[in-house]
Amino acid sequence: MKKVIIVGAGIAGLTAGIYALQSGFDVTIYESHTIPGGACTSWCRKGYLFEGAMHWLTGSSPKTSLNKLWREVSALDDSVNIYNRDPFYTFEHNGQRA
Ligand SMILES: Cc1cc2nc3c(=O)[nH]c(=O)nc-3n(C[C@H](O)[C@H](O)[C@H](O)COP(=O)(O)OP(=O)(O)OC[C@H]3O[C@@H](n4cnc5c(N)ncnc54)[C@H](O)[C@@H]3O)c2cc1C
Repeated sequence: MKKVIIVGAGIAGLTAGIYALQSGFDVTIYESHTIPGGACTSWCRKGYLFEGAMHWLTGSSPKTSLNKLWREVSALDDSVNIYNRDPFYTFEHNGQRA
């Protein structure tokens, strides 16, 4: 089996790892932190939950091509409620806007 080595277990490295595994590669991800997630990591301190970065998921709208990717890597599925707020930010890819 061919091997793939990925440096960094942020959302990009984890996603690349899932796609490589699904494509039949033997995958190893190296992460310098003690936990995976990169900028998406959250942690608890003195009873409070701190979100390092993610406050909404870019591409959660089914109108975007990113939505398909999130579903393929199981970050989204039908059990996840998506709340659409008034847009202050627009995602555009290949001329498609959502
Ligand atoms: C304050 C803030 C708020 C944000 N809010 C949102 C939001 O609300 N919605 C949204 O969709 N996006 C948001 N983003 C963007 C989103 O968090 C990032 O785009 C995304 O997490 C980046 O993922 P990544 O895998 O590319 O990089 P990272 O998450 O940075 O992951 C890189 C990983 O590689 C590891 N690494 C680096 N060098 C090495 C090495 N030499 N050896 C081993 N490991 C290494 C790091 O420790 C890290 O875990 C926000 C970002 C920030 C900073």
